[in-house]
Amino acid sequence: MPDSSTHYRVVVIGGGNGGVSVAARLRRLGVDDIALVEPRTDHLYKPLFSHVAGGTARASITVRPQRDVTPAGVTWIQDGVTRVDPEANRVLLGSGRELTYEHVIVCPGIQLDWDRVPGLVDALKTPAVASHYEFELAAKASLLLRDLRSGTVIFTQPDDPASCAGAAQKPMYQACAYWRATGVLDDIRVVMVVHGERPFGIPDISGELERRIADYGIELRTRSELLEVDAEAQYVVIGGPDGTERLSYDVLNAVPPQSAPDWLKPSALAADLSGGGFVEVDPRTLRHPRFANVWSLGDAAATTNSKCGGALRKQTYVLAKNLAAVLRGEDPRWEYDGYAVCPFTVSRSTVVWAEFDDRGRLAPTIPFWKTMYRENRLSWIFDRHVLPWVYWNLILTGRV
Ligand SMILES: Cc1cc2nc3c(=O)[nH]c(=O)nc-3n(C[C@H](O)[C@H](O)[C@H](O)COP(=O)(O)OP(=O)(O)OC[C@H]3O[C@@H](n4cnc5c(N)ncnc54)[C@H](O)[C@@H]3O)c2cc1C
Repeated sequence: MPDSSTHYRVVVIGGGNGGVSVAARLRRLGVDDIALVEPRTDHLYKPLFSHVAGGTARASITVRPQRDVTPAGVTWIQDGVTRVDPEANRVLLGSGRELTYEHVIVCPGIQLDWDRVPGLVDALKTPAVASHYEFELAAKASLLLRDLRSGTVIFTQPDDPASCAGAAQKPMYQACAYWRATGVLDDIRVVMVVHGERPFGIPDISGELERRIADYGIELRTRSELLEVDAEAQYVVIGGPDGTERLSYDVLNAVPPQSAPDWLKPSALAADLSGGGFVEVDPRTLRHPRFANVWSLGDAAATTNSKCGGALRKQTYVLAKNLAAVLRGEDPRWEYDGYAVCPFTVSRSTVVWAEFDDRGRLAPTIPFWKTMYRENRLSWIFDRHVLPWVYWNLILTGRV
């Protein structure tokens, strides 16, 4: 018999959006003996980082103690996982401790690869460079954008894989609306660097964004990415298949390239290099195809959807139902449909509510409101005011 203090029925790796919500859903389904491994003391609601940088939310409302969001009846182990050994049903922790499990759910999120862009790590230490993809740097971005009165500001969005890739653009639109309201927009050159052919992969949604891009006079660089930052001379090199370009900046908001966590990439859980080192799962049941007691969801899973919190709301439901069924000796019959959402804040009071599936089709939650993706005020109220409440009170508690 394994040591009872280190053996759990279910071990959840990562106490972010996916880990806390799926653990809470499992508790509601009557599953006990769950451990949640999470090294951070604070839990972050990342979708609000864009609002923080864009000047429409305070940083303090994006964070709560991890202790407070850990579901009742779940054991929080404050540690980091360094390896999963699926043959031995074993998880190794940074502290040297080991856990064994009946089932494991792997959801440690995505890794921000700052050092893949030469010069970026050092540039982030300078006053003119920030990134709203990190908690501390989102607040820095907010001040930089607020105080800019003239000059050049550059926003960059990396190639996939990325967590809510479109979120890279959000503070830009909010800042433009602010600069217009304060009468300085005409004095600021705004450049947006995106990897794709258009700002978004679905034509209807891209059209909404392009309308705003033209309206604010943003210079769009497509098929391009951030290649290098020279913080001392304050310029970036951007480029892609069509060549490179050197641009001076007064402010740079850089969203870094992203990938599977380094410790996962070489593990037996990852598919192969074609899966990018993310955890291989059946994209419908979220169960590992080779290890029946391994499950994964969220940004760390090699699913076919666009990685985002909106996808997790459905994934946690499916995974919890399937795992509870397997624990009862039944087959996993619930299926995730590939749904994703990216609310683009295109001003300081409107949102383009982009809901779509893993085949690039629009997937509106409200079936009779097919044009919900068009810029509107109601979606802003939902994104900025309703969703944060829903997140802390209903999503993290496994109710929705
Ligand atoms: C700026 C920004 C804006 C966004 N905006 C939106 C939006 O508007 N709408 C939307 O739907 N989505 C949005 N997203 C995406 C959304 O936040 C993510 O998709 C979601 O958080 C993914 O959840 P997750 O549980 O997979 O990963 P995370 O929430 O990142 O949680 C992973 C957790 O695992 C922990 N961890 C890491 N390594 C280990 C380890 N080795 N051992 C144990 N634990 C570990 C981490 O500390 C973290 O707490 C945004 C993301 C960002 C960054």
